[in-house]
Amino acid sequence: MKPSAFEYASPATLEEAVSLLHAGNGNAKIISGGQSLMPMMAFRLAVPEFLVDLKHIPDLNIIRIADDGVHLGARVRWCDIAGDARLLTAHPLLAEAVTHVAHYQIRNRGTVGGSLAHADPSAEMPGVALTCDALLTIIGSSGTRIEKASAFFTGPLQTTLEADEILTELHLPAWPAARRWAFKEFARRKGDFAMAGVALFYDLDGNGRAENAHIGAIGVSDCPIRLGAAEAALNGNVVDDNTIAAVAAAARAEIDPPSDIHAPAAYRRALVGTLLARGLTQSAG
Ligand SMILES: Cc1cc2nc3c(=O)[nH]c(=O)nc-3n(C[C@H](O)[C@H](O)[C@H](O)COP(=O)(O)OP(=O)(O)OC[C@H]3O[C@@H](n4cnc5c(N)ncnc54)[C@H](O)[C@@H]3O)c2cc1C
Repeated sequence: MKPSAFEYASPATLEEAVSLLHAGNGNAKIISGGQSLMPMMAFRLAVPEFLVDLKHIPDLNIIRIADDGVHLGARVRWCDIAGDARLLTAHPLLAEAVTHVAHYQIRNRGTVGGSLAHADPSAEMPGVALTCDALLTIIGSSGTRIEKASAFFTGPLQTTLEADEILTELHLPAWPAARRWAFKEFARRKGDFAMAGVALFYDLDGNGRAENAHIGAIGVSDCPIRLGAAEAALNGNVVDDNTIAAVAAAARAEIDPPSDIHAPAAYRRALVGTLLARGLTQSAG
């Protein structure tokens, strides 16, 4: 199918973009990489009357690495992250997660802001943002606000974004060099959306025990989730076989994954435990 007719504008400033969205009164939508929006328009699952393209707004495509962490402009593409060798040390979890996103052509256009705003429950970037306690900068007609990732995702393809708001930046807090981490997912073919995936990191205290455990999962709920029971099972323990088994068991018990044409709930539950065990084993190694 073809999309229904729409108007198009490519403003040069954020202020102009916000005022176009505001004037659209709920019928205007941002287009960034177009890799999720255009298919939805082609299927008439989205029928915006007006598209506001962010591509001529300066500085939205910048990756900035500072003392307080990594700042990704909303128009940073997957290929920009993959091509930036600084991120291998500045944020290895991010760098690894992005290798699982989509296929070559899509990675050349798909953007960080588009993925976060689209909020697919199986997408990698929302999972990384949630696991890492990321902050999102959002600009709209009522001003600028900073939102925690933990509050931003409200359901499948749903966020707190208002119709006239633009996500401009994702801030991932600073990453200590000694941090242990892993990102694991399973998809039928490389580049497909994950059936399930896990992102994890923790630090080691002076006795070699895990602390500050952060564990997130994708593809197992309406939106990315943190696995609090699994984090509790990891904190305070040496990461050995017993701990890994306990963390995986806690994760399996605390999730309530959906069944769909791709996999039944029981399979996804088992998968999360397996991915977590593999990730923890790798991180400890
Ligand atoms: C075949 C295929 C496979 C894919 N596989 C994966 C995968 O494995 N993992 C994965 O994560 N993704 C996958 N994707 C999605 C891809 O990563 C998209 O690029 C991404 O989800 C959306 O980014 P975009 O820049 O293309 O956004 P767009 O399609 O331009 O926009 C998506 C939505 O976000 C809104 N939006 C965009 N930018 C902003 C902003 N700055 N502020 C507010 N709202 C905004 C738009 O209005 C729209 O509603 C796949 C896509 C395809 C077609």
